[in-house]
Amino acid sequence: MAGNPDTLTRPSALAMIGDPAPEEAGRWEVHLAYRLVSSNSVVDLRAIADFVQIDSAFSGQTTVDFQIGDVTKYSVEADVEGELTGNLVLLDLHMHEGTLSVSPFFCTGEAKTEGERYEGKWHMPCLKPDTCGCEGDDGYFSLTRVG
Ligand SMILES: [Zn+2]
Repeated sequence: MAGNPDTLTRPSALAMIGDPAPEEAGRWEVHLAYRLVSSNSVVDLRAIADFVQIDSAFSGQTTVDFQIGDVTKYSVEADVEGELTGNLVLLDLHMHEGTLSVSPFFCTGEAKTEGERYEGKWHMPCLKPDTCGCEGDDGYFSLTRVG
C-alpha cells in the first residue's frame, strides 16, 4: 500500500493549464528602484529571469540583487509571473524570504519599445497592516529584454 502522500505526484500550476505547452520567452531584466526614506537613498533591485510563456501569461525564477551604486548588498531568490503583451506588462515579483516576502511587488508598465522595453511603477502594500496601516510603498519599475 503506497500510503506516503509525499510520493504522490502533484500537478504543477503550468501542467494544470494543459495545452498549449509553455514556450521560452526570452531573458529579461527586471529593475525596481526602492527609496529608503530613513536614509533618503535608493536601492536598485535588479534581477535577470528567463521567462516561459503561455499566450500572454509568463513566469520565471530569479535572484534579485539589492544594489547601492555598483555594490550588491545582498541577494534573494524570487518568482516572477504576470502578463505581457505588446503594449503592457503586469508583473508580480515575489521574494522567497525576508521582510519583502510578505507581499509581492505589483508592477505595471507600458511599452517604450514594443516587446523590448516597458516602464512604469511598482506598488507594495503596507508590510505591517496590524500595526502600521499606511498605504504602502511604490516606485519606478522597468522590464527590459536582454536575450
Ligand atoms: Zn505601513
